Amino acid sequence: MKSMEKIVSLCKRRGYLFQSSEIYGGIQGFWDYGPLGVELKRNLKDAWWHDMISGHNELVKPESAPTPFEMVGLDSTIIMHPQVWKCSGHYDLFHDHMVDCRESKKRYRFDQIRGRWVEYQDKKVFVTTMAEAEQELEEVRRRGMKFFRLRNKDADKITVGDESLTLDKLDSTENVLAPDAKSLDTLTEPREFNLMFKTTLGALGGEDDTTFLRPETAQGIFVNFKNVLDSSRVGLPFGIGQVGKSFRNEITPRNFTFRSREFEQMEIEFFCHPDQSQQWYRYWRDRRLAWYKELGLSDESLIMREHHQEELAHYSVGTADIEYAFPFLPEGEYGELEGIAHRGDFDLRSHMEGKLDPSTRPMQVELGEDGKPKYRGSGRDLSYRDEATNEKFVPHVVEPSAGADRGALAFLCEAYTEDEAPDEKGKMQTRTVMKLHPRLAPIKAAVFPLVKKDGMPEVAHEIYGELKRHMNVFYDEKGAVGRRYRRQDEAGTPYCITVDTDTLTDRTVTIRDRDTLEQTRVKIDDVVADLRTRING
Ligand code: ATP
Repeated sequence: MKSMEKIVSLCKRRGYLFQSSEIYGGIQGFWDYGPLGVELKRNLKDAWWHDMISGHNELVKPESAPTPFEMVGLDSTIIMHPQVWKCSGHYDLFHDHMVDCRESKKRYRFDQIRGRWVEYQDKKVFVTTMAEAEQELEEVRRRGMKFFRLRNKDADKITVGDESLTLDKLDSTENVLAPDAKSLDTLTEPREFNLMFKTTLGALGGEDDTTFLRPETAQGIFVNFKNVLDSSRVGLPFGIGQVGKSFRNEITPRNFTFRSREFEQMEIEFFCHPDQSQQWYRYWRDRRLAWYKELGLSDESLIMREHHQEELAHYSVGTADIEYAFPFLPEGEYGELEGIAHRGDFDLRSHMEGKLDPSTRPMQVELGEDGKPKYRGSGRDLSYRDEATNEKFVPHVVEPSAGADRGALAFLCEAYTEDEAPDEKGKMQTRTVMKLHPRLAPIKAAVFPLVKKDGMPEVAHEIYGELKRHMNVFYDEKGAVGRRYRRQDEAGTPYCITVDTDTLTDRTVTIRDRDTLEQTRVKIDDVVADLRTRING
């Protein structure tokens, strides 16, 4: 059975993920990738970069795209001019709602406190907990019993509601037992909390020197739109992609790496003519969903959720989230992997004219009390002139915005499998295997001499040396070969190459497939090409 506990434990044991600063007790919301994890995440980012940017063929129209299009990359800085965040809306609008508990002095994100109605005699209280979904019901029951001062033998005297709700769904917090409180009604009203990390430039540190760590990579793309246009020969429609760190001071980081305070994003800003933007929005939504499936996420665990009108961000004409059934969520619930947003011309116009007022239609620059723009734009012309028609317009933007860490976590969760495989004696044993797509697998192949003698290690070294020039491979000659296979299964290595007695006479080796357990004999000279085909299809 797949459970978050097992996945987290495997990640730590095998060096996928560690808590940041662990020897000092850790720091909440920050995670380090160990030797296997760094390869996985790098492979994921490389696959994205290749499939979206460097490997994109602008000469051919993809089947479902309205026209052929170009893609280029960018690497902008994490710290940018403070005005960027004022015009983007992050300074004013990028916040979550938090509540404080007057009793426990703890702070929570309002929409992340979960609980159920618990009834005893004629009293009804809403008992909450921050426990993971798997323990939620039990924890609510336990806290409910404690609140009503009931013993275990009286367990059937209380009724615990079937429905698990987050706090933002209630009309009032009056009858709420906060997650770490003993009495009712200890939560403050929800307050806004800006998620951007502040930092100070230079030694003087006045208010004017305050700047922010970027909460998304997208703005770096918008402010370079003109630079890219002027320095390359791209023309509309085209996309600019960027991969990099983002920072959000999340109130309640949780669920392993799902909600971290430092994370990486893989974002595309796709610029197109306003008349075509709905078509491009649909193209990118479907293309991105297909990408996750190509790399191994199953149909059943993925959904595309179109936002309702009232949920849409202020600038958006349409937004869809690609969501995954992470094992830490209750059955039937999904967590966001990527958002695909139709942003209209909000961003380019805001950086040009000044921050737009989201409540106006068509959107106009938001004015301060003095009647001047509240946040001045750059004054640069960020419109586009179509050379063929001579039409001048501000392009519309479609933004597929993915998280590399959430992606890596989804692939880890999907890959975790327990099945049965025969041991050395042919006896079936339970094995833990990470069924990662070969493109994502941290180690592509492991090379083993069957035994550590008779010249087998020498041949295995030779193969290992040759393979290392092409891909990440691992050499192991310690212990029984069955045990070596098991270790590689857990690391997600798709192929194991074994040098045995026959190798010494006919220069062939066996390649064992992690998922089918099938073993094929291949000539040593063909191993590189054989693996290449297996990995890239
Ligand atoms: P959420 O609603 O979960 O906070 P969001 O809608 O604010 O996410 P976006 O602003 O659309 O997220 O960011 C795009 C992507 O960046 C998300 O789909 C996710 O993959 C990733 N991401 C956002 N916040 C975090 C975070 N705190 N930790 C890890 N990844 C994140």
